[in-house]
Amino acid sequence: MSFKLSLENKVAVVTGGSRGIGRAIALEFAERGAAVVVNYNSSPDAAEEVVKKIQEAGGKAAAFKADVSDFKQAESLVKFAVDTFGDLSILVNNAGITRDQLIMMMPETDWDAVINTNLKSTFNCSKAAVKHMMRKRTGRIINMASVAGQMGNPGQTNYSASKGGQIAFTKALAREVAGRNITVNAIAPGFVDTEILDAMSPETLEAALKLVPLGRKGKPEEIAFTAAFLAADGAAYITGQVLGVDGGMAMM
Ligand code: NAP
Repeated sequence: MSFKLSLENKVAVVTGGSRGIGRAIALEFAERGAAVVVNYNSSPDAAEEVVKKIQEAGGKAAAFKADVSDFKQAESLVKFAVDTFGDLSILVNNAGITRDQLIMMMPETDWDAVINTNLKSTFNCSKAAVKHMMRKRTGRIINMASVAGQMGNPGQTNYSASKGGQIAFTKALAREVAGRNITVNAIAPGFVDTEILDAMSPETLEAALKLVPLGRKGKPEEIAFTAAFLAADGAAYITGQVLGVDGGMAMM
């Protein structure tokens, strides 16, 4: 028997689905048959545009505002998915921010904002999702980490710590919930062509790309395809893994 890369009859929540990588994942999942909750925080128009695109193509989607760094709002996001589409089979913890600065100059508020948005959100949403998935004895959780969490990056102590934390979280939770047929994996993208890279100067980006054996930035769609692979039935025996999609930057 060969597996298809289909997500028919699945319900997915994509945090930060309004822009960049999350947007590409929402579109990819919907194209493969999943009903998708497109979570956003500050970009309602962008989220509605993703929903409209999916619906016009005959798919199912709904937008939901939640600041996923807030425990209660994360809970309400998962509840919305179950109430609207009757299930939650796939959670993608994708929402993320950067606040780059050398540690000597980094304000405490930038440390807290990055850790809360990138890492605490992963706990918040996973906790709510696992409650539902445990009962159903099936589920997929995909955490959007980064090469920065594997290799470290100067000027990104906060971001690297949040992404390294997501990787460790992935492994611990994978062991906790494997008995209930729930898989938990991480994707570690390298430099991917989204607005998050706007914070880097062109010179820094050019220097950074010299570290990429494939010699280019990744496309959001390439990360989205990886997420679809991890979410599909054929990936049921993969858990606790970190899949690098980085042009060969971090060969672990
Ligand atoms: P992006 O284009 O800046 O998009 C970030 C997304 O996160 C937006 O949809 C944003 O939604 C959402 N978001 C931010 N704070 C949020 C919050 N508190 N609650 C809910 N949603 C929130 O960034 P991206 O490049 O697509 O990054 C997506 C993920 O990939 C991040 O976790 C990032 O760390 C990771 N990553 C990216 C790269 C890269 O090179 N692009 C590399 C490695 C890892 P609103 O606009 O609605 O607030």
